[in-house]
Order: sequence, then structure tokens, then C-alpha cells
Amino acid sequence: MKKFDVIIVGAGLAGLSCGLQLSSKGKKLLLLEREGVVGGRTSSYNLDGMDVESGFHRYIGYYTHLPRVLRKAGVELSEIFMWEEKIHVRVNDEKPLVLGMAPLFGMIKTIKGLVGNRRYLSLKDKLSLLPFFMNGLKDYVMSPHKLDQHSIKEYAAKYNVTNRAFHHLIVPLSSGVFFLPPERYSAYVFFGLLAPTIPKFYKMRVGAYLGGMTEVMCQPIADQIIKNGGSVRTHSNVESLVIEEGKVKGIRLEDGQVYRAQHTVLAVTLYTAKKLLKPVFENHPWFQPMFQLPLMPAVSFQIEMTKPAVPIDVTTFAPFTCLSSFAEQSRTTFQASKGRLSIILSPPEKFLDLDPQETLQFIIKDARKIGLDLESNILDYRQVNHEYDFHSLEPGFQALRPTQRTPVEGLILAGDYTRQPYFATMEGATLSGLKAASLIK
Ligand SMILES: Cc1cc2nc3c(=O)[nH]c(=O)nc-3n(C[C@H](O)[C@H](O)[C@H](O)COP(=O)(O)OP(=O)(O)OC[C@H]3O[C@@H](n4cnc5c(N)ncnc54)[C@H](O)[C@@H]3O)c2cc1C
Repeated sequence: MKKFDVIIVGAGLAGLSCGLQLSSKGKKLLLLEREGVVGGRTSSYNLDGMDVESGFHRYIGYYTHLPRVLRKAGVELSEIFMWEEKIHVRVNDEKPLVLGMAPLFGMIKTIKGLVGNRRYLSLKDKLSLLPFFMNGLKDYVMSPHKLDQHSIKEYAAKYNVTNRAFHHLIVPLSSGVFFLPPERYSAYVFFGLLAPTIPKFYKMRVGAYLGGMTEVMCQPIADQIIKNGGSVRTHSNVESLVIEEGKVKGIRLEDGQVYRAQHTVLAVTLYTAKKLLKPVFENHPWFQPMFQLPLMPAVSFQIEMTKPAVPIDVTTFAPFTCLSSFAEQSRTTFQASKGRLSIILSPPEKFLDLDPQETLQFIIKDARKIGLDLESNILDYRQVNHEYDFHSLEPGFQALRPTQRTPVEGLILAGDYTRQPYFATMEGATLSGLKAASLIK
């Protein structure tokens, strides 16, 4: 039986950030990951002969914790991201609506996006958004719990946002980001993701990964943990917690091996956290809200093609289709491919149980509506399901998220579902890991 200062379960960004922080302070730590690669929901790997990733990801310019962790691991942001100053919204087979997202780095595009695009949004549509955004940001600060009771659809109706503005702007910026239809998307989550852009507007732009996320981001963090003296083990499925006199004393792996530590950080998804905690803390009052916090799925679909699906690699939203967001990736993440389209599907529940061949037919049909002919250029494809990976971002659940600190001696939580202001994002996961690390002296 081996003894550590800290055991971290789960090598997603939460576990990796926590591990990097603690190993740099000289803690004797063991980081255990169930899968064969590190990265969790930000991993890239080979799936039955095709290189895939957990789903296409965008780095948002206002992130501060993730870049700090990356720099600490010796990763240069300019080497792993290609910057986008705009996003596209496709609502039909005509030219896309172009929205500038970078007031400083792409000032002209941003201004053009605001005053132009009259074919899609009239002055009346744009003006109808003003009270919606101003009140939403105010409510986010002043009455967050009340705001979380509303869906973004209800909130837009309350402030008389026009139909066009709602469908062309609010739906892409909500459903396109977290795959939920607007009637199920919490207004608190919508404004919460937007709020950091105000003080950090000058940092805004969007980063597309130049390479698989495990390769360019997560493995370098793991390597730095090892350089700092920590141990990182993949293929290590934690089956249960070791409990003595109500305290967490370590973990037991699937193969029966036991590791003991003064602190155990559970940096797994909410689904696994419930699975590990329920058998021991079923009736503990502190864990009840978290046990009631529902889960939500996501589905990513990745198509290898004979040529690029669209002329540039840019984040695109297609609000009236099942392609809630997508990007061509052959000049960014998958540069060995002639064409690579990565899609996040909405609503995910519709596709979870479908055969990938059936899902592909829905995609081909909806892609046609926005002027993309995919059918004749497809080489191969994979569907990546995240059936239980997210905590629900529907109205009414944000108050159920647990803090990293628990009342149980030896047990700390981390992961994007734990309490931090960035919801289920890479920044949120990173911050949760750093908060968990700060609890260990
Ligand atoms: C399709 C998709 C698109 C996304 N797009 C974006 C985006 O554009 N921008 C953005 O910022 N965020 C995005 N996200 C969200 C982001 O990926 C997550 O919020 C973040 O990666 C979560 O990190 P985490 O460490 O909390 O959890 P995870 O990454 O899920 O890590 C948990 C780890 O625990 C491991 N584990 C589970 N059970 C066990 C066990 N019993 N024993 C050992 N290990 C275990 C898992 O294998 C996993 O590696 C996206 C996510 C998905 C799925």
C-alpha cells in the first residue's frame, strides 16, 4: 500500500490544473485517469482507426486561468491556437452572417458586424436587443437566482426582442454554445458567459486548436507534473473511496489496489462523482443538492472529407438545423486531413441512440439547407457521445452546484460542475482545479 500527500482522480483540465499547482509546490501526488489518454472532455485520440477529439473546442479570449496554467506547463498560446476574429451564422444557403468577436484584434469586422448585416437584422431588430442585454447583465449581478429561474426564450420575450433578433442572434449564442434549445437554456448561464466579455472586451477573440487537444495542451501539462515529481497514471479506473471513521483516506482501483493519501481530490464528472460518493454519503445533508443536480448529454460528429466543407476554418452556428455549431478543421486541428468537419449536434438526446449512419443522414439533410453539399465528399465519420458528461444548464439548477470544499475530512471536489463562474467550460474546469489545490496547505 502506497501513501501520497494527494491523490487526484481524473486527468481532465480540472485534475491536471490541480496536479500542476500542487506538484509545483512539492506535494507528493498521484493523478489517476481511467482512460488511455489524459484530457477527459478535452482529449484527442484514435477511435477505430480515425483520429478524433472529444468535440471541437474554442478558447475564448477572456480566459485567464487556463492560459496561466498553460504557461506554467511551458505551452505558448501562440503555438497552439489560431485566432479567429469573427464567427459565422448560417441561416440559409446564402452568404453567412458575419459577427466580429474581437473589438481590439478585429475592430473593423466587429463594427461592421454591429452596424452592417442589415439583410439579417434591421435597426429595429438591433434596438430590441438593447434592453434585453442591459437588464440581463444587471440581473446576472443583482439577482442571479431569479435570473436562473428563466429560460433565455422567456427572458427574450419579457424584453420584446424581435423574432428575427431572437433567431439570428440569441439562438446561435445560446444553443450554439451549450447545445440546448432556447426554451431549455438558463438565462443565467447565457448572461454569465457573456458577463466576463465586458471588463475584458479588449482580450476577446476565439482560439481554434492547432493540433489535437491531448497532444498540444493536456499531455504537456501532465509531463510538467511528472517533471515536478508527481505521478500520472492512465488506465487506472477508481472504483471506490477508502473511508475510515467517516474520513476519506484514499481510493481503491478496479483491480483492487489501494492508494492512501492525506487528501483525495475527486476531479471527475458529476456522473462519476455521484457514483463514488452515493454509496458512502447517501444520507449526508451536504451532498443532497449535488445528488439532485441533473446531468445533460452532448453529441459530437466528426467527418473526414475529400476536401474542406467550407472555405475557411471558422466557428459557425446554424440555428435552424441540427448542426448547432460546427467548424472545418483541416487547416487547424486536423492538418493531415484534406477536409475535416466537426459538428456539435442539437438537441443531443435525439442522436444518442441513433446509429452513426442514421445521424449522418440528418446532418446531410440539414447541411443542404445552409448550402453545404457534404454527401459526395465523405470518406469516413465518427460519432462521439457524451451521454452523462455535463451538469444541466437548464433553468433552476445552478444553486445546486457544490463548492470544492466539502465537510468530509480528506475529500475535495473539482470539475466544471463545481461552483465557479464559468459553467461547463475549459476555463471553469481549470479554475475549479486551482480552487481545489488552494484548499491543500
Ligand atoms: C463536445 C464538447 C465541446 C466543448 N466545447 C467547449 C468550448 O468550445 N470551449 C470550452 O471552454 N469548453 C468546451 N467544452 C467543455 C469542456 O470540455 C469541459 O468543461 C472541461 O473539459 C471539463 O473538464 P473537467 O476536468 O471538469 O472534466 P473532464 O474533462 O470530463 O475530466 C474528468 C476525467 O475524469 C476521468 N474519470 C472519470 N471517472 C473516473 C474514474 N472512476 N477513475 C479515474 N478517472 C476517471 C475521465 O476519464 C476524465 O478524464 C466542450 C465539451 C464538449 C464535450
